[in-house]
Amino acid sequence: MTAEIVSVGTELLLGQIIDTHAPTMARILAECGIACKHRATVGDNLDRIVETLRQALSRADVVVTIGGLGPTSDDLTRDAIAVAMDDTLETVEEIEQKLRRWFAQNGYQWVESNARQAQKPTCAEIIPNPNGTAPGLVCRKNGKTVFALPGPRGEFDPMAYDQVKPMLETLGGQSVIHSRVLRVIGVGESSVEEKIQHLMDAENPTVAPYAQTGEVHLRITAKSNSKEEAEALIDPVEQQVRAALGDAVYGTDLTDLESALIQLLTARGETLAVAESMTGGGLGKRLTSIEGASNAFRGGVLVYNAQVKDALLGIGPIVDEFGPVSEECAKAMAESIRNKLNTTYAISITGNAGATSDTGGKPRGRVYIGIVTPHGTSVHESSFRGIRDDIRTRAEQVALMRLRELVLKQA
Ligand code: ATP
Ligand code: MG
Repeated sequence: MTAEIVSVGTELLLGQIIDTHAPTMARILAECGIACKHRATVGDNLDRIVETLRQALSRADVVVTIGGLGPTSDDLTRDAIAVAMDDTLETVEEIEQKLRRWFAQNGYQWVESNARQAQKPTCAEIIPNPNGTAPGLVCRKNGKTVFALPGPRGEFDPMAYDQVKPMLETLGGQSVIHSRVLRVIGVGESSVEEKIQHLMDAENPTVAPYAQTGEVHLRITAKSNSKEEAEALIDPVEQQVRAALGDAVYGTDLTDLESALIQLLTARGETLAVAESMTGGGLGKRLTSIEGASNAFRGGVLVYNAQVKDALLGIGPIVDEFGPVSEECAKAMAESIRNKLNTTYAISITGNAGATSDTGGKPRGRVYIGIVTPHGTSVHESSFRGIRDDIRTRAEQVALMRLRELVLKQA
């Protein structure tokens, strides 16, 4: 059983809105064990929608369309499905009466074009839409099934989850496609691939690495008769990946680096403070995004400008002598905030993410990360490439990663 998704709307092609519904539908299809083989986006043009649908129908068992079910002249999905399935449109009287009543009751003037929403291909069944005027459609002909869903989120989401998903589950039969993501830090994508090469040829589960900013995600995907069976296929592969990569695997699925670190510190009853310059509070933001972090993460300072570094941390002479982007400054920042907040650990980040070298002559991308533990202070010098945001995100990643490494090393 294969499927394709067709998103309809010129505004999608113009980049004015982002297609968030297609990924939602892709996840639903996977959960129903239906392999989504292609996704297409097409503008509000009858011929092109028909052409796209015909191509999708020539390859897939199930086609899901998104949008273009409204009353206006650019809403052409219904018409296109009828043409692509060699069918004709008919009006469902009951729906038209319902629409007319709804308009009258809500004080809207009835415009004749609204009657288009009561039309359906003759092979179609109506999917009721309790959240809007345009109903959805499920059209079955010649062994193919086309689902048509409305575009507005408040209509799409409930229809997709509550009404279409159960039908897709039936079509998909007894199978699910289930994934688990292993999150890997401190090892590049190609090294990860090399270390787990022996697992990547398997067909069920499949293993695939994806590079993210500052980390690598390994997706293990199994196809099986139930989620539980899929998990049972995934478990031994996860163990093999962990055996190959060790502590570099810091979490699974939605566990990000900050939550892994907070969990680790909380379990050990230890605390952390930060002093940030270049990242402007980004590290603090990430650490405070974890609910219940306050036992482990105490807080910190945002000391962007040299005078503020002195005013809040008392490290003016060091900044004057060595410059704000320096090993010495990173060390002083971290030690000062740890003393002030009396924590087990402290992290500092200072660096140059600007377009040019700073006054101290440090190149763009140069970052110093200071980490204080009960055993002393270390400073890590890194050079990152990329746009400003990449440099800042990578600095945060490395800071969290280094602290995690040092914490894990301690008894
Ligand atoms: P309406 O009855 O409101 O005309 P419709 O089913 O005809 O609904 P569209 O006209 O294609 O849907 O889109 C209406 C709105 O729905 C868009 O302006 C957009 O906000 C949202 N929308 C449409 N398609 C998508 C999509 N693929 N992802 C996210 N939002 C979407
Ligand atoms: Mg519309």
